[in-house]
Amino acid sequence: MDQYRVFGNPIKQSRSPYIHQAFAQSTDQQLSYQSELVEINAFSAKVHQFFRSGGKGANITVPFKEQALLLCDQLSDRARLAGAVNTLSFINGKILGDNTDGLGLVQDLLRHQITLKNSRILLLGAGGAAKGVILPLLEQQPTLMVIANRTISKAKNLCSHFNDKKLTFSGYEEINCDFDLIINATSASLSGNLPLISKELIKTKTVCYDMVYGKELTPFLNWAKDLGAKQLIDGLGMLVGQAAESFALWRAVKPEVESVIDNLRDALVKE
Ligand code: NDP
Repeated sequence: MDQYRVFGNPIKQSRSPYIHQAFAQSTDQQLSYQSELVEINAFSAKVHQFFRSGGKGANITVPFKEQALLLCDQLSDRARLAGAVNTLSFINGKILGDNTDGLGLVQDLLRHQITLKNSRILLLGAGGAAKGVILPLLEQQPTLMVIANRTISKAKNLCSHFNDKKLTFSGYEEINCDFDLIINATSASLSGNLPLISKELIKTKTVCYDMVYGKELTPFLNWAKDLGAKQLIDGLGMLVGQAAESFALWRAVKPEVESVIDNLRDALVKE
């Protein structure tokens, strides 16, 4: 049976084995997908060993996404521009690296019927998650995309990697446009904090997305709700969406995500 893994540290919390087994079942594919804890200095050896022993593909999670880039024989544009790899495929003795996080986000936004073409997008954060979604978002042809970050130099640096006139950067206090969509790609919600942007940015037409997800609304989505935002979406659909894109790369069949998201949401609520 074809073998797949997710490598990370920590890894116990990973929902990827559940998601991929569900995809395998719904698409009638015979495969095994397991999580594996990797010691911090053993990543490269572990991945090579897995592929030598017949592994077909792997997902890579925190903190190895940047290291994964270095062991690939070939990279997709998405992975190269993101500077990170979350999906490895082993084909004809070569390791191919891709990054499906941004596709997962875009698919989730489209699934919620959010119009991205000609929209104005504010992306909060300039870490790994923000980096990974910029190209797939730009490919949807927004009119404007602003990357804003607490540490403005990181937003500036990120912006300079993409040669696109629609893309600009800002600090939180200087943001002064109207946006259709605000995406929180910071980790602030994980510590119960908010990116300190102006309340004025939330209008009745504003869609707010937080890449973090949980049992309840994240602090950012709660804040946006109180200010009357049009629609609130958390990152659970992005998580399942990026997994679906990895699965499609490996198995050449795109699984249905809806029921997997629903089941994970039910499990979250019961936690
Ligand atoms: P990084 O550590 O690379 O970056 C963290 C970012 O958050 C930086 O921009 C940092 O700003 C900002 N930040 C942290 N705390 C605060 C705060 N209190 N106020 C304002 N900004 C803050 O993390 P990642 O980019 O890898 O991940 C970001 C989040 O996205 C994580 O919570 C992760 O769980 C989530 N994620 C979700 C995915 C999904 O599938 N749903 C996929 C990938 C990530 P500064 O530069 O100023 O420090």
